[in-house]
Amino acid sequence: METHNITLIPGDGIGPELTEATRRVLEATGIKFRWEIVHAGTDVMAEYGTPLPPLVLASIKRNKVALKGPITTPVGSGFRSVNVALRKELELFCCLRPCKSYAGTPTPYNNVDLVIVRENMEDLYAGIEYEKGSEKVSKLISFLKEQGTTVRPDSGISIKPLSEFGCRRIVRFAFEYARAHKRRKVTAVHKANIMKFSDGLFLAVARDTAKDYPDIEFEDRIVDNMSMQLVKKPQQFDVLVCPNLYGDILSDLCAGLVGGLGVAPGANLGDDIALFEPTHGSAPKYKGLNKANPMAMMLSAVLMLRHINESAAADRMEKAIESIIGEGKYVTYDLKPDGEQGNAVGTSQVADAIISRMI
Ligand code: NAD
Repeated sequence: METHNITLIPGDGIGPELTEATRRVLEATGIKFRWEIVHAGTDVMAEYGTPLPPLVLASIKRNKVALKGPITTPVGSGFRSVNVALRKELELFCCLRPCKSYAGTPTPYNNVDLVIVRENMEDLYAGIEYEKGSEKVSKLISFLKEQGTTVRPDSGISIKPLSEFGCRRIVRFAFEYARAHKRRKVTAVHKANIMKFSDGLFLAVARDTAKDYPDIEFEDRIVDNMSMQLVKKPQQFDVLVCPNLYGDILSDLCAGLVGGLGVAPGANLGDDIALFEPTHGSAPKYKGLNKANPMAMMLSAVLMLRHINESAAADRMEKAIESIIGEGKYVTYDLKPDGEQGNAVGTSQVADAIISRMI
């Protein structure tokens, strides 16, 4: 049996507890892993002078596959987010966020099974920002004035670049994903009526790319209308392809539709590197309390198993998670209905229950 070399980044906050629970469940599938455990985040800053040491990047580049716990982004530290830096350094241009409702989750929505394909590198996340009162912002405001556009002098400015290359790459990814996973429809989400040269480009590229995939239905939606329709009838959607900001916001909205961040997995994908992590953050207030739901990280690990062609193990693990959610007994506080919080179990007990369900 093949042994899979995987970079394991425990993260901080609730990350290490969730990572340990997930690793135990993965090993219980019988698949063999050689874990290369490396650390990133504020906890390693004193030792390496950076929250993202080069050895972390080297490990991921070598193994091509990583499983990661959430990492806190310190506010106002001068360091950019480790999560954003990882995506940039490794060219992980796609953020894949499946949102599936499992019977037993506390949500009024049934039969939701959609996938968000979010562009991960461009848009307002490109980091092109000019601070109010800075020399650069006043130069930019003068330039804009020459172009006939008036901007108040007390403005802060963030710039939203969308390239044809970036749009084509993410839209093509979405169609290829739909075809490979037997999905019927791709919906492009945009605000092209207002941002004609950025979102307008995204929409034009999406329409053009759709011509190469006659077997897959294509439609587009303006992001505000999309939000309303997702809340009204999410079952009508299948694969959504979005520029970075809309993808970020709709991912959390859709996580809410299917039971919350505790069951929302994710993957960051490049041409040959894949990093799997839950949608949620490090929830520092729950650190070390054995309280947080490990299922989002476990479902991210299910995506990882599929990625490394261990589909049978992925199916078994997902079924066991689904069965534990459906039974509703060995679940954390977030999956218990109001009034039953006292019966919630902890992170490690969820892992024990899933392992026993897989045997
Ligand atoms: P968060 O996702 O950490 O927590 C928000 C709330 O959601 C928590 O208070 C908790 O009530 C709930 N929650 C989150 N995960 C849960 C789980 N597994 N089980 C049960 N409940 C859960 O969001 P935040 O508070 O905005 O961010 C905290 C830190 O995490 C910030 O520093 C942020 O930058 C960082 N972050 C990291 C990542 C990442 O590593 N990919 C992603 C998002 C946020």
